[in-house]
Order: sequence, then C-alpha cells, then structure tokens
Amino acid sequence: MKKVISIVWCIVSLNIPLFGFEGFSNDPGSHMASLSQALQKTYVAKAGNTALKFTMPVWGLKTYTWDHYYAADLMADASRDIDSFYFGPLYPHAQTPSFSYTKALSPRELRSIEAKALLDYLQFMDGWFIRLRSLFASAQSDVKKERDALYLLGVIIHSYQDLWAHYGITNEMHRALLKHRGIDVDRDPKRIAIMEHKLEGFVTNLPGLLGTPAGEIFVSLIKSDQEYVPPTIGERKKLLGRGRDIFLEGINYVVFTSDTDKSLTYLEQIQWDAETLDKIVQNPEALHQAASQKSPDALISFLEIWGYQF
Ligand SMILES: [Zn+2]
Repeated sequence: MKKVISIVWCIVSLNIPLFGFEGFSNDPGSHMASLSQALQKTYVAKAGNTALKFTMPVWGLKTYTWDHYYAADLMADASRDIDSFYFGPLYPHAQTPSFSYTKALSPRELRSIEAKALLDYLQFMDGWFIRLRSLFASAQSDVKKERDALYLLGVIIHSYQDLWAHYGITNEMHRALLKHRGIDVDRDPKRIAIMEHKLEGFVTNLPGLLGTPAGEIFVSLIKSDQEYVPPTIGERKKLLGRGRDIFLEGINYVVFTSDTDKSLTYLEQIQWDAETLDKIVQNPEALHQAASQKSPDALISFLEIWGYQF
C-alpha cells in the first residue's frame, strides 16, 4: 500500500495526465454523450440536463447530477462503468491482451492471438445479451427490474463503442500510437465520427438483438416518461458482480505499461476486421454461434466463412 501511495503521489506531482479517457465525462464524443444522442435521435427518448458535481482527483472519475433521470440518461450514465469496474480485463474494451512484440511470430501464431481475443469479446457480448433478454422479459411493470435491465444494457454498449476506438489493439499499442504516431484512439475525431455513426445503427437494431418480448419492452421503456433514481455504486457493484478495479489497475496501466514503438510491429496483423465483426455482433444467431465455438481455431474457421480478414 505504501508503494501504491508513493506511486500515486509520483503521478500527481509529475502531473502525468491519468485517464483523460472520455469514458468519464459528458463531453462531445464521450461514451455518455454519444449514447444519449443516439437514443434521443433513434427513439425520440427524453433526456435530462446533467451537471458535473465532482471529479475525483488522480483517477478523474466524474460524478454527475441530473434534473431528470430518464431511461436514456440511465443508459448513457451506465455506458461509463466498464472503464471503472472492468478496467483490468481487455475484452470489454475490444482489446487484445499483451504479448511479446520482440519475438518473431508467424502469421498463424498472430492469427491465433487475434482469435483468442475475439472469442473472449464475442463470449462477453453474447453472455451479456442472454442475461438482458431474460431481465427485460421479467421487468414488465417492475420499476426496480426495469432499472437493472436498462442499466446493464447501457453498460454493455460501452464494449460496442470501444470496438471503433480500439479495433482489438493491446494497451501497449494504445500508448505507442499516441507517443509515436500522435493518434489518441480515444479522442481521434475520425474514430469518434465512425463510432457515432455505427452506434446509431446498433441502437436502432437493439429490439432485434434483444428479441421478443425483451425488444418491445426496451422500446416502451426508452420512449416513456418514467424517471429513475441513479443506481448507487453499491447497487452497480451488485449488478456487475464486481467492484471498481480502476484504483489499482489504473496505476498498473499508467506506471507499468510500456509505450515503446516495438509494440507496433504487429499492429496491422493484430487489428480486428471490425466491419465483419460488427455484422456478427449485430446478428443474434451469428453472435451466439461465434461465441459457442469451442476454441480460437474453431472460431477462425467460423469467421472465415463470414469473410473475416485476418
Ligand atoms: Zn473502455
């Protein structure tokens, strides 16, 4: 703990910007603002006005208040939570775990690193939607369950948004792209524009992804005037089955993640074919089939049928 405190002190005193991720704010192009905008545009969903109440020093987590907290506000707020509750795992951010960038890797080895990360991502998305279908179906006229279902739907949308920022890259690649090529994948205007465009399609397709009756229930909730109480950190923790790992994993990321340009050696090979992946993710049967593949090798064969470019 002493070491942690001294590292934190070091970061603060060196004034290294910690996570300027637009995951926490309501600024244009952030997870929260983009999702709110897509829901308002697609469903004419009502949205309240937000006010920033508090920014946590060092970590940058932001607490907002709303004059009204409708379904769209709840979902947009929830879309920020992957970055604080799932900071450590890579799959919820559409990323690949670190591997050796200095070793000579064959195309076959690189393909299997990619397929392993894809399988984790696809299983995460599929498993979450399975849970959402039964949650929405059991939520009818139960405000508490409605809130849980809308919250969890907002949470998983983060992982769809991140696909268009990260395209499967590792944390080292993320940092190296900024340092050596000047590309901040989380704030690159081109990536934000693509994400916002894709998100609109995804949000429009949500009833199809949720199926019957969950999809119809979602539509009625997102169009309604119902207001909710923002879930507390404790309630979020309970629904997610985990606490906020950002406090330790965030330090790990800032202090121990290399930003050497060596990590960019395999950038092209490791990046995902997001367009093909998107078609699979937005097709419930295909998503489930992909996620049910028994191994990364089996997934490679499945993806090739879909025309996935490794
Ligand atoms: Zn993320």
